[in-house]
Amino acid sequence: MDSGLKTNKNNMTSVKEVAPDIFMVSLPMNSRLSKSSVNAFVLAGNDGLVFDSGYGSWRKRTPLVDTICKITRQKKHRGQACDIKRAIASHGHWDHFSGLGHLQDVLGIEVLATEKQVQKIGSKKNFKASFHEKNEHLNTPESLVRWRNLRDNLITEIYMGVAKVCFVSGPITVISENTLLSINGESWQVIPVPGHSDDDIVLFNSQRGIMLGGDLILLSINTWLGPPKSDLKTYLNSLERLLKLPGLKVILAAHGSPITEPYQRIEAIIKHRKKKADDLFHLVAGSGKQGLSYPEIFKIIYPKTNYFQRALLGGMVVVTLDYLIGQKKIITSQKNGKTIYKV
Ligand SMILES: [Zn+2]
Repeated sequence: MDSGLKTNKNNMTSVKEVAPDIFMVSLPMNSRLSKSSVNAFVLAGNDGLVFDSGYGSWRKRTPLVDTICKITRQKKHRGQACDIKRAIASHGHWDHFSGLGHLQDVLGIEVLATEKQVQKIGSKKNFKASFHEKNEHLNTPESLVRWRNLRDNLITEIYMGVAKVCFVSGPITVISENTLLSINGESWQVIPVPGHSDDDIVLFNSQRGIMLGGDLILLSINTWLGPPKSDLKTYLNSLERLLKLPGLKVILAAHGSPITEPYQRIEAIIKHRKKKADDLFHLVAGSGKQGLSYPEIFKIIYPKTNYFQRALLGGMVVVTLDYLIGQKKIITSQKNGKTIYKV
């Protein structure tokens, strides 16, 4: 149902009451870098919480800050108490946590995070370092690793500036990855679901069958996976864990529309990922004794790509290769200083 709150016409932020007192705030990013949007969820009530916080901004009064003020005013107008006291991100990716500092600075909202998330959301240095872990399976030569780190460091710095990545400068309250949060008198289970990142969590309200799902399960696109923090086996395990939750009716995802057939969607994602892994296995197996290098594999699957597509799509290939190595379906060997994949 629509909340009746006005859409911000300048930047097209939109608000929808997707379940009673749960407001989905869709925040757009209209930069040259990316045309995308991310959802934040405001659980409105006398002890409210914001799940995910969207992009950063050079001005502290962000569309999300304004929207929370509007929701609070509207609830009070209806004669209902509303005090949004806490905020937490689903994981330590910049498009989910960059708004937290603004909520803290402008509205005095308490920022919660798990131990793993704190490392990234509170420190630019740690956040940047989290991208630069060496992928052992790719076995890149040391000289190339140093050059790539320099290049990636520069790209990350430019990207962070354009994307306005912001960090929490004030205190952060650390919570357990396995705990219950009482929000507006309701119980929400915090469930760790790593795989997309190493620090993903979801919030699940078993009474209402509602899950705030972050990036784990999206309705019409596949969740990005890539090194160094994604792990396909862990991701599949997390999805299997969520399949076992009883009474799940809707997943409110961080990108796109709510998922109203959650079990079917989770099963479809598991099937899709396993099929992709199977396809890659057959590609490698088909190369016989000679095997294939990573660039050869990538070129066969994606013949025409630009730099950013290579970075995004390459991540999926790398985690799938890692998965197949972990499953002992393929092995690596060295040939002329290159890592070769074969069965
Ligand atoms: Zn993410």
